[in-house]
Amino acid sequence: MNPSITKLISIVIPVFCEEQNVLKFYNRLEQITREMRNYTWEYIFVNDGSADGSYLELKKIAAKDKKTKVLDLSRNFGKEIALSAGIEAASGSAVITIDCDLQHPPELIPLMIKKWEEGVEVVATIRKKIENQPLTRLIGSKLFYLLMSKISEVEMISQTTDFRLIDKKVADIFKTISEKSRMYRGIIDWMGFKKEYVEFDADARAEGVSGYSYRKLLNLAINSITSFSLFPLKIAGIIGVIITFFSSLLLLIMLPTYFIFRSPFFSPLAIVAVSNTFFIGIVLISLGLIALYIGNIHNEVVNRPLYIVKDRLNFD
Ligand code: UDP
Ligand code: MG
Repeated sequence: MNPSITKLISIVIPVFCEEQNVLKFYNRLEQITREMRNYTWEYIFVNDGSADGSYLELKKIAAKDKKTKVLDLSRNFGKEIALSAGIEAASGSAVITIDCDLQHPPELIPLMIKKWEEGVEVVATIRKKIENQPLTRLIGSKLFYLLMSKISEVEMISQTTDFRLIDKKVADIFKTISEKSRMYRGIIDWMGFKKEYVEFDADARAEGVSGYSYRKLLNLAINSITSFSLFPLKIAGIIGVIITFFSSLLLLIMLPTYFIFRSPFFSPLAIVAVSNTFFIGIVLISLGLIALYIGNIHNEVVNRPLYIVKDRLNFD
């Protein structure tokens, strides 16, 4: 086979505290890519400020295998940004993003590449079931997609993952997007292109615990809805929700008591006062909504670099 016509495929792997998984993942990936001789490969591991020995493990692999490249970020920037850093550094004709904890089976890669060769520009994956997924996460994820599908213009499918193949064209455009609070999946979905889905059963993560706490997940959800970041501005909205909730409960009792049962238990003045409070609540909620958008603008205006690469291995 003439090496000049083999296509380069980049595999981008965000790594956060995965010291026990890195080698396992690498070996399993190798098994797959070794079989696919028509392609050349580059593995781009992005160490997202792991506090454990992940970077050492990656260094060991990179020392033996020149196609393994490592970006070492200066702290934990979060998976979305780690993915962006990896894609930015990728030069393949296709870029595949995949988790390091073996929840995304590398065995799916041949099928993804086959679809890509057939002309699909974004091959996304849908997980059918996840072993040992806590019920709260399942419900949270369902609720999130329900909400997103209601309020966003972009088609959002429940249970899609970041395990994706994107064509070089898509990756090149992704690199030009300067949005700071980003959600990889959301941006790719927003970009459009010819997309197909493949399904898989997700296993439980191989070792360690999920780097995604509920707080991180909630943050991700909020980010992807409004890309906001200013918490203090949100407080008005939260107070508004509380006031509206309690005053509407009160009104639900007061109004029928006064107008239907004609009981003098609540004075008209009290009813007016509570109605007023109710409307104040609505105004505060509106302020909170505006604040979300201001937060969004703030974020874009601040214009910090997305990430800082501390070290580069095998990047010539
Ligand atoms: N990850 C990361 N930065 C983070 C959290 C996670 O790079 O702040 C990586 C992690 O190493 C893994 C992938 O993102 O390769 C998915 O993370 P995790 O398994 O914790 O998420 P979950 O599967 O629970 O959604
Ligand atoms: Mg995982």
